[in-house]
This record gives sequence, structure tokens and C-alpha cells, in this order.
Amino acid sequence: MSVLIHCPTLQRTASIDRVIGQYGSGDGPVVVVIAGVHGNEPAGVYAILDLLDSLNEASPDFRGKVIGLAGNLAALKNNVRYIDRDLNRMWIRENVEAAYDPALLNESQPRCAELDEVRALYDVIKGIMANETGPFHFVDLHTTSSVSPPFIPFDDTLSNRNFVEHFPVPGILGIEEFLPGTLLSYMTRYNVVAIGYEAGQHREPSSIGFHHAMLALCLEKAGCVARENFPVLAEHEETLRKRAEGLQGFYEVRYRYAIEEGEGFRMLPGFTSFQPVSRMQPLAENNQGSIKAQENGRIFMPLYQAQGNDGYFLIRPIARFWLKLSKVLRRWRAERVLTWLPGVRRLQDEQNTVTVNTRIAKFKVREFLHLLGYRLQGVEGNTMRFSRREP
Ligand SMILES: [Zn+2]
Repeated sequence: MSVLIHCPTLQRTASIDRVIGQYGSGDGPVVVVIAGVHGNEPAGVYAILDLLDSLNEASPDFRGKVIGLAGNLAALKNNVRYIDRDLNRMWIRENVEAAYDPALLNESQPRCAELDEVRALYDVIKGIMANETGPFHFVDLHTTSSVSPPFIPFDDTLSNRNFVEHFPVPGILGIEEFLPGTLLSYMTRYNVVAIGYEAGQHREPSSIGFHHAMLALCLEKAGCVARENFPVLAEHEETLRKRAEGLQGFYEVRYRYAIEEGEGFRMLPGFTSFQPVSRMQPLAENNQGSIKAQENGRIFMPLYQAQGNDGYFLIRPIARFWLKLSKVLRRWRAERVLTWLPGVRRLQDEQNTVTVNTRIAKFKVREFLHLLGYRLQGVEGNTMRFSRREP
């Protein structure tokens, strides 16, 4: 069933299906691009169409396939972020199971438009993984409500990190600790590269070009095309490098401002992602008064739209030393001896999950577990629960 999407500010219109299009044939690397998981972010859809056009026109030597998929088709059609629930918070086991089994629907899990989207999208993804040899690379395209240079958020597995370190834009680690249920986190259960990409502001026509540039470079890094026979890649790289000038490298998410219902949150005007802020600097307001920066760092994804409950994030660059150290520790599989530390226990039935008793563990628990590739899943009393991201 085709859906007509139209964006007046981007001045583009397209008729698309769940599979927006694909290029290439035969075995080899597969790049699966998903656009419009948020329906108010159509720039990625147009970028996929532009990429496929440019490939058809240049017809370079090509190994494997690139396949473009639409995320939330119903929301894209209606030009809204989502119909009933945010599709990028739906990817947890209960929801995916309910999407396939109507018997699991109940008062706390009512039927909703996004469960149908989960099923339709996941069916296509599973079909691709069953029919292709891979290796697989998933790229989930988004745009932001604030002005922002392009950046790549990803779950910190070594295969993701190795892929991301070649791009001329910043990489962001650790956002999944604050945002459970993303499609990308769900995909890390398979042995694949799965990264996000934020190209810029939703309605900024340049966001389409920044998406397109990134996708072309993904094809190169995945091994589908070589620069000699697709010369436009040099231009794409330069476009991204210029826009992200001075910001390249890895950052970690340190803080998320969670908006409470009815608090009347509003950002102060003029903040852009990656802008440096200092502790106690006023960033936003609510009915109680001024909201000030919790620590020194850079502001990240400040909210300038009505829908959503992430007010803003604070991020900090990660020094190369820590990145290298964490690679070494993971290669040694240092997590095997993790339970030698006081207060750390591995769960019997979930080998990738550990709990930490914070009354006993006196070291910098969270920072140390991040180095080993663990992410905080939740806190209950004195117990922190962490899961390892490596498949
Ligand atoms: Zn989005």
C-alpha cells in the first residue's frame, strides 16, 4: 500500500511503500537504512530516494545491497511524530510480542497504531536477515527540533564503534541508558552494526543533503562501493566535515532532563546542540522558575517542539585514552573477572546482566562498567542493574 508524503517546508513530495527502494544485487554487505521512525522527520525518506537516484545514474561497481525502509508509515503520511505511541520507544520484548499476538493485548497494552508498525517493519527486517548473507549494517535516520550539526548516536559495542570512528562527524555514546526501547538497541541483539544518525533540524532543507552524504559514506565504509568508481564520495565527506568542524570525536551522554507532565517546560531560546554550557547557567524554565545546567559540558538536543519529554541532554567528550583502554579490556574479555569485585554479581539466567550493590561497591561503578561495554538498565534501592551490549 503506497503512502503519499508531502513536506511543504522541505518542498518535497513522494509516494512510498514500507520498502522505499533498493540498489544492488547478489551477496555481500547489506546496508539497511530506516527513515521516518518519527513521522515528523521525513528528510531521511527523501535522502534515500536521492541516494538511489544517484546510484542509478552513476551505476558504480557495487557489492551487496542498500535497502531503504520507511519507519512509521502512518505517521509519515499524517506529518506527525507518532499516532499513539513513540515508535522509537516500542522496541522491548513485551511490545514486540504483543505486536504479533493479539491475545497479549490488555488494558496496560492496548491495541495501538504503532504495534502494527512494529510488526510490519520487523517482518521486513527479519526477511532481509533471512535472505541475505550480510554482513549487515543498520542506519536509523532522524532529525532534531533544534539546530544541530550531524552526529551519530549508537550503543557502544566494539563493532559499532569501529564503524563510526571513520565518519567526519561526532559519535555519541550512552544515550540508550536514558532512552529505552529504541530500534537500534533492539538490533544490537543480532551480530550487526546498528547506528543512528541525526542530520540536522527537521524542516531545514539542508538536512536532506546531510543525510544523503552520510548514506553514501556508509556504503563506502560497509564495502559496497569504492571511492575510485564513485568519486562524489569525496564531496560528501567534505560536506560533513565542514558542518561538524571542530566537533569530531566521541562524546558520552552524562545527563537527561526528563520533563514531568504539566510542569510547563520551555527551553530558553537560541541553544544549539554541542554548544558549551557551564554549571548553573540557566537553560530552560518551568512553572517553578529557572532550570540551570547541572554540570559543565555541552548541551545536546534541546527540545524546541511540543511532543516529547526529553528536555535536553548534557554531553562531554571522551578522551582517546579511555576509548583505547575500553577496547583492550573488552578484547581481554575483562568482564569474566568482573564478579571478583566486591558487590558485583552476575545473574544466573541472564549471563549478560550483572547487579551491583552500591553499599558494598565503593569504586566508580558506572564509569567502570561503561568501559567494559555495560549500560545501566535500572536502579532499585541500593542495587544497580547493568547489561552488556556486545551480542
Ligand atoms: Zn527522531
